[in-house]
Amino acid sequence: MRHSPESARKRGYTWQWEKARAAFLSEHPLCRRCGDAGVTTPANVVDHITPHNGDPALFWDRANWQPLCKRCHDVKTATEDGGFGRIAYSALPRWLMPATCELHIVCGPPGSGKSTHATQAARAARGDVIDLDVIVSQLARQPIYQCREPAVLALAMRERNDRLGRLSQLPASRAVWFIVSAPGERQRDWWRATLKPRTLTLMPAALGQCIERISADPRRAGVRQQHIDAAQRWFEREQQDRPVHSSACGVDGLPTDPAHPWNLGAAAAD
Ligand SMILES: [Zn+2]
Repeated sequence: MRHSPESARKRGYTWQWEKARAAFLSEHPLCRRCGDAGVTTPANVVDHITPHNGDPALFWDRANWQPLCKRCHDVKTATEDGGFGRIAYSALPRWLMPATCELHIVCGPPGSGKSTHATQAARAARGDVIDLDVIVSQLARQPIYQCREPAVLALAMRERNDRLGRLSQLPASRAVWFIVSAPGERQRDWWRATLKPRTLTLMPAALGQCIERISADPRRAGVRQQHIDAAQRWFEREQQDRPVHSSACGVDGLPTDPAHPWNLGAAAAD
């Protein structure tokens, strides 16, 4: 990917390969990995099933070739030893521009009901949802929350950022819900200032409620403790970042201070 044409040639990617590759793709026009998952995607990469590492026999062995789309090839390369190595991405990409579409940001800890809220709202408005967990599961071809491969998480973050980048080119009539945990007012202020959403909603949930929801969610089987830990960390960050509001809570565990952001709900966007 990041190699010069010179080094690509040294590794065997010559005009002969170009010809063989084009012929293979015309015989095998669909991505195999997508096909295995029941999705039809055009293939545009001939992948070496076993990495050839410069071995000409492995390189030219057609039995070692498979047709993949670029997305699947990136996932495979990233998860192979000695593949991409570290994939650079930013959780808070500074290059993002304000959204031109109708954008709603939904924040909160794991188990606070962000995705249920966003999915329902998006369905009613025929809008889209940008959710890192969903992107990870699509890239990994695994059920939601199950893939914890760092390389796939990094690729998914990059794809999420690409999609956030395109929000500044969408028509005003398009509605998009963006899900991000964003603990602490400072992070949420950053998202407000950067993407200029129509609304930013902080899901009103206490830690106990999040833990209950996480424990009851069958999709989180096997990752429950990690999600509970993440919820706990979210509330710690939230606490550190909010010295201005009274932390007094009612019997339900929710803050009693009317100026507390949770009690302002969606109005907190303004
Ligand atoms: Zn594919």
